[in-house]
Amino acid sequence: MTLLSVQDLRVTFGTADGDVHAVKGVSFDVAAGETVAIVGESGSGKSVTANSLLRLNFGADVRTSGRILLEGRDVLAMSEDEVRAVRGRDVAMIFQDPLTALNPFYTVGRQIAEAYEVHHPGTSKKDLREIALDSLRKVGIPEPTKRVDQYPHEFSGGMRQRIVIAIALVNSPKILIADEPTTALDVTVQAQILELIAAMQQEHGSAVVLITHDLGVVAEITERVMVMYAGRVVESASVVDAFATPTHPYTRGLLKSVKSLDTGRHERLESIPGIPPSLIKLPSGCPFHPRCSFASSLGSRCSTEVPELRAVGSSSSACHLPNERLLDLLGGAHDR
Ligand code: SF4
Repeated sequence: MTLLSVQDLRVTFGTADGDVHAVKGVSFDVAAGETVAIVGESGSGKSVTANSLLRLNFGADVRTSGRILLEGRDVLAMSEDEVRAVRGRDVAMIFQDPLTALNPFYTVGRQIAEAYEVHHPGTSKKDLREIALDSLRKVGIPEPTKRVDQYPHEFSGGMRQRIVIAIALVNSPKILIADEPTTALDVTVQAQILELIAAMQQEHGSAVVLITHDLGVVAEITERVMVMYAGRVVESASVVDAFATPTHPYTRGLLKSVKSLDTGRHERLESIPGIPPSLIKLPSGCPFHPRCSFASSLGSRCSTEVPELRAVGSSSSACHLPNERLLDLLGGAHDR
């Protein structure tokens, strides 16, 4: 069952230097209980896409168009009051940095209780405390009866992220958006947090939209991946297909730049040449063409024509290369 349907989402920020086209026609669906990852470098539009789901892109001149259907209701057409009712109850967000996501002046118990009370007014103080304790227990905070009255600075980074997850899940949201949830954490804690998100998802049956630049995180807990570049989805595939047979040169570049089990000890990882383009002045044609090693094989087509997302095998790819060539050339992303 489709829970969320994003259709032709476009987000533009007006700035003194010109319009920043952060998201340019993104469409995707998320089913109940599914985990979808949106992957890309900084400036690819992944976080702006995620923020749009809760109308959290702020600024003097933000222009958003398209449709974001949450169980058939368009978030972009809702009143402010309606969006506030959705935030935290139907759709909750786990932010990147737990320290800034938590209020340093309130105990963690109070912050969990407030997140619940805002959608359940009239809940007694006793019940709110029980709910806070239960939430801390579920996310694995030891000694919850003592910790519930402590402040965020009294917790480690990993424990703080557990508290942020407890707040996000206290209303059993249908959709959980996790924006780089492990980036600010020690590597040893990252896996624990990902396992916790996966376990909590199973318990609550929520759909998860995971925003990350880290393909290792994607492999860990997601089923489907969308790769974004310069505000567009350039590849959409199951995680298995994206890793085994990527169908876009950019995805291939991302895979070659991370370590895998096949990487030899003394082998150098490849990086994608160049830098991501300016979103104010995008290159003509395929925005990846200045960095793409396959562009020259297609004459001037790559620098003049924007490729549309189309089916390649069981994936979708926005590249002009013919399907057979894409599968042949890119399927060997792990060959070194
Ligand atoms: Fe590379 Fe051309 Fe495909 Fe863009 S359309 S990814 S430049 S081959």
